[in-house]
Amino acid sequence: MYDYIVIGQGLTGMLSAIWAREKGASVALISQGEGRIVQSTGVMDLIPAEKGNIVKMMEGYQNHSWDKTLIKNGIDRFKTLLSRLGYPYYGDIYNPIEIITGSGHLKSTGLYPETIHPIPEKGHVMVIGFQEIADFQPEYIKGNLRKERPGLNISTINISLGKRALRTMTQLDAARMLEDRENREYVLKQIKEQLSVQMTTSIDLFIFPSSLGILQWKMIIEEFKEKLQAQVTEAVGMPPNATAIRLYEGLKKEISRQGVRLYADTQVIGSKVENDIVKSIIIKNTVSRELKAKTYVMATGGVLGGGFEWTTKGLKEKVLGVKINQNGEYLSPIKNVYTVGASQGIDVTKHGITGGVFSILSSYAAIEQAVKEEKVYDQNAG
Ligand SMILES: Cc1cc2nc3c(=O)[nH]c(=O)nc-3n(C[C@H](O)[C@H](O)[C@H](O)COP(=O)(O)OP(=O)(O)OC[C@H]3O[C@@H](n4cnc5c(N)ncnc54)[C@H](O)[C@@H]3O)c2cc1C
Repeated sequence: MYDYIVIGQGLTGMLSAIWAREKGASVALISQGEGRIVQSTGVMDLIPAEKGNIVKMMEGYQNHSWDKTLIKNGIDRFKTLLSRLGYPYYGDIYNPIEIITGSGHLKSTGLYPETIHPIPEKGHVMVIGFQEIADFQPEYIKGNLRKERPGLNISTINISLGKRALRTMTQLDAARMLEDRENREYVLKQIKEQLSVQMTTSIDLFIFPSSLGILQWKMIIEEFKEKLQAQVTEAVGMPPNATAIRLYEGLKKEISRQGVRLYADTQVIGSKVENDIVKSIIIKNTVSRELKAKTYVMATGGVLGGGFEWTTKGLKEKVLGVKINQNGEYLSPIKNVYTVGASQGIDVTKHGITGGVFSILSSYAAIEQAVKEEKVYDQNAG
């Protein structure tokens, strides 16, 4: 019997498992696959809020009674965790910044890793494209960025990733190649040659695809800043983004470091519910078996994550087999189940895209509440 079973290995599942474990609980994490985090940009957006801040975002989540303290503590906890994992996040969810995407459009974001730098209103920026990456086109980016930042002077350079580079690559392939010193030297040499051909001297910011290393990102960013004598940023774009993979790998490592029992490639196919309490769940990998916990955290990601399914009769819960309404809310609440992220069953989460900030806060709030209620439950039991 575990204290907690967390179902789902997206951002919400991993954060919930880590935070429950930090409370001293025994935790199992069960997942049939990676969450959407690996397809994301790795920055934590305020959805739904578009260009608004956390106050605007919360208007979309009217059922939530999160106060300012809870919001502050949840965000601080995330930042502290990521700093400890060696991949710090910055930003202020009350004052989001605008970052550049791989299409050259700007997007507003609440929290972002150290490899990302805000886009200035003025100055000279240089967009660096790699010939091997088809979905990052400097001239196209320049056109879009110019519309959003008319005060910027924008130049472009197209170079090769290395003599051994394949013709078509993803940003992640590029990130792996740039871990190699020889490839970095080759890239820097070409940039300097092109700068000299263009007779360009003072650049304020170099914009690269999301590809500046995986494990060695810090050293690579510092090296590029020093050798290019300017700020450097990654532009998040088509997946896989190195920004997201670093986050995913860091959280995954922390899960195993903390001693969370991971059931990978394992599907939850049903549950036994008695008197509004989940007594056990049925899991299946090669064989089926029953698993028990005092508390269950549903981090199954709604429709996109696999937790819900649209059928001809409406939205269906696929994991525990419980009845839900058209937003995904449980028709009869289950006392020892906490839903996080896109499993929450509110209007704005039903399609599965909830955004990083909501994922962080819903995981934090659920674990804080679960720990409080479990104590009450234990006292009653005693
Ligand atoms: C393509 C894409 C790009 C995105 N980009 C961004 C972005 O740039 N910024 C941002 O802030 N947000 C972004 N989002 C949204 C954000 O990533 C999601 O809101 C967030 O990842 C949701 O996380 P989650 O943990 O709730 O669910 P998910 O990441 O969907 O995880 C669900 C998990 O549940 C598991 N699961 C489901 N059913 C079962 C079962 N029966 N048994 C066992 N396991 C099960 C799945 O395998 C998966 O591990 C993006 C979303 C998508 C889809």
